Amino acid sequence: MTNGKSCVIIGAGIAGLTAAGILSDRGWSVVLLDKGRGAGGRMATRRIGEGRFDHGAQFFTVRDERFREAVDRWESRGWVTPWFTESGHVRYRGADGMNGIAKQLAQRLEVHPKTKVEGIETSDGAWRVLADTGEEFCASALLLTAPAPQSKELLARCWDLLPAAMVTVLNGISYDPCFALLARLDGPSRVPAPGYVRLDDGPITFIADNTQKGISTGSAAVTIHARADFTRMYFDAAQDEVAQLLRQAARPWLGTTVREWELHRWNYSQPVDTTVERYLFATEPAPLAIAGDGFGGARVEGAFLSGLSAAERMLTI
Ligand SMILES: Cc1cc2nc3c(=O)[nH]c(=O)nc-3n(C[C@H](O)[C@H](O)[C@H](O)COP(=O)(O)OP(=O)(O)OC[C@H]3O[C@@H](n4cnc5c(N)ncnc54)[C@H](O)[C@@H]3O)c2cc1C
Repeated sequence: MTNGKSCVIIGAGIAGLTAAGILSDRGWSVVLLDKGRGAGGRMATRRIGEGRFDHGAQFFTVRDERFREAVDRWESRGWVTPWFTESGHVRYRGADGMNGIAKQLAQRLEVHPKTKVEGIETSDGAWRVLADTGEEFCASALLLTAPAPQSKELLARCWDLLPAAMVTVLNGISYDPCFALLARLDGPSRVPAPGYVRLDDGPITFIADNTQKGISTGSAAVTIHARADFTRMYFDAAQDEVAQLLRQAARPWLGTTVREWELHRWNYSQPVDTTVERYLFATEPAPLAIAGDGFGGARVEGAFLSGLSAAERMLTI
């Protein structure tokens, strides 16, 4: 049963899904729009041949009590499982890949995938969201959860109507880019158990063996994440050149032939700095919240808490 309140949420990553669940539970009519093929955003899992790869977030940690409650629930349902422990903190992974968590959360929600928002308009205290599918979505409230620079672009037509402080904060959030090279090998990799290695120098920061991690079967399926400065330097270079450089740097950890590979470029990988506030909120020209991992704490946990806090604020209008 709905309570007559409605919200369009742009972005079905962990921030958007978390907020949508809370608002729906309180009787709001909620629609999630995402330009991707499904829910998950940067909690992304992709298949190449028989190999399955987490190619965005590799794992997450839990520090906040409210995130702990959610993760315990997810673990009891078999959605997440510990991968390894480092510096006293358990690193959790999606039992079926990081994207599996988002798929589960999305099941009871109205998600419109392959729906890219191209414009946002407001009139008479309500929002009108225009998508590349030709559809229009109207609601009394709007929540944006795309990486902050993308949310800023989407609000361009309403810029003059927003509080100056909101605009200033949005202008200050930037993200690092990150190349992710996904490589399926001919045999096992030399990545040590339990399937990851961190590198302090050179073009690579992290290599994960998704087969050892437990989300792929058969020969090794390896995700190689590039350092932000390397990604910036080769941002517009040809894919072959970037892949060649990353494969060369990863050679000691591969130890066998690469059978097939794909290169993905995350333009907005992780925020450089985050704001103190967990979300931005305005009541004029109509109820509007901006959330995601740029607000109040980076990473999966920060995005979850941002979505949760923004939804709780929305409930007070
Ligand atoms: C390479 C990489 C490695 C990472 N490693 C880790 C890690 O190990 N641990 C960790 O905790 N975190 C890690 N992260 C960060 C983590 O993935 C993010 O902090 C978190 O997933 C962000 O969630 P979100 O909901 O804020 O944003 P997102 O997941 O980005 O969701 C935003 C959604 O908005 C959608 N969107 C954007 N523009 C539009 C539009 N115009 N119309 C419709 N939809 C739109 C996008 O498609 C996306 O699905 C990593 C990220 C990357 C990329």
